[in-house]
Amino acid sequence: MRLKPYQNFLKRDLVNNNLENNFSPELIIKGIAGAPGIAEGELFILRRDRIPVKREIIPTEEIDNEIKRFREAISESVAEIKRIKRNITERIDDEAVGIIDAQIMAVNDEEIIRSVEAEIRKERLNAEYVYDKLVREVIDSLENSDNDYFRQRVYDIKGVRSRVLSNLMGIKQKSIFEITKPSIVASRLLSAGEVAQIAGGNVLGLITAVGGATSHIALLAKSLNIPTVLGIDDKYHLLKNGADIILDGNEGKIILHPTEETRKEYSNRRLKLSKEKERLAINIEEPALTTDGHRINLLANIELSSEVKKAMDEGAEGVGLYRSEFLYFTFGGMPSEEQQFKVYSNIVKSAAPKPVTIRTFDLGGDKFADETNKPYEQNPFLGWRAIRISLALPNYFKAQLKAILRSSVFGNVSIMIPMVSDICEVKQALDIFEEVKEELSRERIPFDEDTKFGVMIEVPSAALNADPIAEIVDFFSIGTNDLTQYTLAVDRGNEVVNYLFKSLHPAVLRLADIAIKSAKRHSIPVSVCGELAGDPLATALLVGMGADSLSAPCSSLPFIKNIIRNINYEDAFKLADKVLSLSTTAEIKNFLADYLSGILEGLSYPLKR
Ligand code: PEP
Ligand code: MG
Repeated sequence: MRLKPYQNFLKRDLVNNNLENNFSPELIIKGIAGAPGIAEGELFILRRDRIPVKREIIPTEEIDNEIKRFREAISESVAEIKRIKRNITERIDDEAVGIIDAQIMAVNDEEIIRSVEAEIRKERLNAEYVYDKLVREVIDSLENSDNDYFRQRVYDIKGVRSRVLSNLMGIKQKSIFEITKPSIVASRLLSAGEVAQIAGGNVLGLITAVGGATSHIALLAKSLNIPTVLGIDDKYHLLKNGADIILDGNEGKIILHPTEETRKEYSNRRLKLSKEKERLAINIEEPALTTDGHRINLLANIELSSEVKKAMDEGAEGVGLYRSEFLYFTFGGMPSEEQQFKVYSNIVKSAAPKPVTIRTFDLGGDKFADETNKPYEQNPFLGWRAIRISLALPNYFKAQLKAILRSSVFGNVSIMIPMVSDICEVKQALDIFEEVKEELSRERIPFDEDTKFGVMIEVPSAALNADPIAEIVDFFSIGTNDLTQYTLAVDRGNEVVNYLFKSLHPAVLRLADIAIKSAKRHSIPVSVCGELAGDPLATALLVGMGADSLSAPCSSLPFIKNIIRNINYEDAFKLADKVLSLSTTAEIKNFLADYLSGILEGLSYPLKR
């Protein structure tokens, strides 16, 4: 629960006093588990200090020199970003490099450059003052748009502004890239560009003040294997640069100034975890088979194409969810059919002959959309999102379907549409799918005629009306993140209500049960691909409920497989029956934790959260 304001006040006093007395007691700050893993090190607080800019009148004869000085600062800034790009290119994905390109474009923005030069000439003002003023106007208008994508851009543009001003004024600002020793990085909010830099840097762990467990920063951090704690919110001010810290991304907490005892405990935990990973590695090539021979397909959720190899290394039998909208984010806009075709083909080829399910763009909600001319929305998660955008912009939708279908010749591809709330959307999408297939055939472009078409069940109305939907699609995939958000009316990205976000809530499970039973009645396969599918506590339950496959973040696959290989399908079936009769999340969690401790000894991950 959040601390009340006066409690914060007291805590702040306590910490300040203790600093004065040179005594820093251990302090545990509870946040939200963003990406698993434990990190220990020094805290580096990423600040965007406002560079003070003075207004100066330039003598007429100096104006050309002032413009030259400005041009040089721009070139130096571009050169710096390019150096960053060179340094990180080998370590990160092609797509993430696109974010750096977007920063280069922002520095090189001809419109801004020309306006700055014109104003220097007209008003005879110094370059830093004019540049700062014009960029601030851009930032203000983006900030006022109240759109998450624009807010993300604001952070990139602020970073670019600081870089250009630093170069103009000869000031050195600390950026993530300048972290010289491995550190745990804290920031109020992180932009996409910063996350791309993190991938190549000295970053052991990440902390942010805002964001929920299924926000896109959490998903990216998971992809990049960076332990992350989000949403520490009103306790952020307790962090101090250089402090010793342990970050526990499994339990979603950070420990400031840990005692010797705590350090020992965590080093034991890490040892246990790495031993367990080593032990589980022997199962990598083995199937996810229950003790009585029931097979579950274990698939990976991925955000970046570079993750396919990692997924296969962790024993994935395919990709159950490729969140294609991250392309939009890494390309800094809607990618063309050709750009998409290149990425999809690479993914499909590297996974082949294993299957890949490509989900069409799930834009909107907390996921950035610009050229879609998205209107201001009071409730973006209930607004213009996912399949709603695709159907409203059929040309973009067709380009994506074409790119996916064209990639189908390189392996085994399925298409899945997100956030279906009404069967009419499925019918409309299927019509467009057929149209695209006809167009490709007419153009004699090869594709796999058997490409499967499925839907995500992640809105309660789709679960409740699953029967007629199951009649017209090839498969279901249950998205427990959104199913939780929409069933419980809890914004998945809002740290303030995160305590209410419970995917093991009886109401969420009952809706999932309806969808699974409906898939069985219509003999179509059903998978679960929300974060719950990667939670070891839920594995036996989901298997017992009848999921044919589980699709989860790569790092959880060995743990889930181990559980599947230790449970009996008949028992799991009875367990699911019992769980579905319970009436609170606490009862369900306790019941599942007791069951799991009974079949597996010495688990390295926490069961009761
Ligand atoms: C989900 O909602 O559970 C899901 C898998 O999709 P996303 O997290 O990308 O919304
Ligand atoms: Mg979803």
